[in-house]
Amino acid sequence: MFADRAKIWIRSGKGGDGHCSFRRELYVANGGPDGGDGGRGGDLIFEVDEGLNTLVDYRHKRKYAAGDGEEGGKRRCHGKDGKDLVLKVPEGTVIKESKSGKVIADMSGENRRQVVLKGGRGGLGNQHFATATMQVPKYAQPGQPAMELEVSLELKVIADVGLIGFPNVGKSTLLSRVTNAQPKIANYHFTTLNPNLGVVDLDHGKGFVMADIPGLIEGASEGIGLGHEFLRHVERTKLMIHVVDAAGVEGRDPVDDIYKINQELEKYNPEIAARPQVIAANKTDLIYSEDEDPVERLKAEFEPKGIKVFPISGATGKGISELLYYVSGELEKMDSTPVVFEQEYFPEDELIYEELPYTVTKEDDMYVIEGPKIEKMLGYTNLDSEKGFAFFQRFLKETGILDDLEAAGIQEGDTVRMYGLQFDYYK
Ligand code: GDP
Ligand code: MG
Repeated sequence: MFADRAKIWIRSGKGGDGHCSFRRELYVANGGPDGGDGGRGGDLIFEVDEGLNTLVDYRHKRKYAAGDGEEGGKRRCHGKDGKDLVLKVPEGTVIKESKSGKVIADMSGENRRQVVLKGGRGGLGNQHFATATMQVPKYAQPGQPAMELEVSLELKVIADVGLIGFPNVGKSTLLSRVTNAQPKIANYHFTTLNPNLGVVDLDHGKGFVMADIPGLIEGASEGIGLGHEFLRHVERTKLMIHVVDAAGVEGRDPVDDIYKINQELEKYNPEIAARPQVIAANKTDLIYSEDEDPVERLKAEFEPKGIKVFPISGATGKGISELLYYVSGELEKMDSTPVVFEQEYFPEDELIYEELPYTVTKEDDMYVIEGPKIEKMLGYTNLDSEKGFAFFQRFLKETGILDDLEAAGIQEGDTVRMYGLQFDYYK
């Protein structure tokens, strides 16, 4: 499996509930309210770690949760805040909401650290609810629920130039020859697990970053499936060097090869397929044939389409500098801003709060709401006070209970029962 992709569940911490208590002092009959506030839930944060270049850690563990805030205590004791959880990822990781595929964060460029799920606010203790007319407030605010989300992590390397092509055509060899990178080079259908990056230094100081894109899946040439796995990494590249085995060592036709790979690109993303390409006709040191020169065939086929063909040899180094200077010149003509994926999914706006466990059922002509959190809330809430009642109404709305009642078909004047409490429903 590729380690440049993972799907995980993330959860921020829930806010601790506010506390409801009263001062007890010797000789004082009714002390004032002294319930402390709940602690803040921990944030779920993503951070770039320069030392990482795969997402392999996220393939072993699937669930990540920040700490919950603690409940407030007596004597104005503030509950402890939940611990933030920082998840380290390689630069270039794109975080997406897994169902819609919408981008939440692109961990590249300036963006080194992003709070993806905010921890819940802690609830206020009853100490805050004393007023001149309500000296004994018996309600405290519940903490805000946690947010929970399944996300997919995708590593999309940051390189100006991507090397694409069938396995074994010499991509890794080329990368290792022109950069400081040390990719694995193998004369078998080796699937590069991680993209290798290297910096090409040209003498006039116009270097660029080149990536050896993880190869096609083994057996691709037999049509078993080219797989789109590797294509993720070309998304940020501005230009592709399409490496082809011009000598046809493995018995394939080079012109055919180029078309096949380009068809895959087109299927994956037409926008990427339309990006500039240069053909590196490799292994020219192995061309002995008296037949038609494969380099000439490639030129005749692709140069009219605007794709330049450079005969090279990764083995001897022949032709490589011409290729690199051409590529560098092309890059100079292009927009130099990096390709960054914009945020299109905002967890806070999507109501992904962890569901409160409660049920709405209809018994005869009464609507019954049950759930441990509800029971606890009611234990705290003094509905006889105006403030307590307003607070209770807000609670019904924020938790979604009102919406659920509506969905269950409630009409004005119908009765709602929650544990010991009964009231008539009016909007
Ligand atoms: P990749 O799968 O595209 O990364 O291909 P590699 O760089 O791993 O190369 C596959 C095989 O082809 C290795 O045995 C290389 O030594 C060999 N090779 C690569 N480039 C050349 C070349 O220009 N000439 C010759 N003769 N062999 C090459
Ligand atoms: Mg390789």
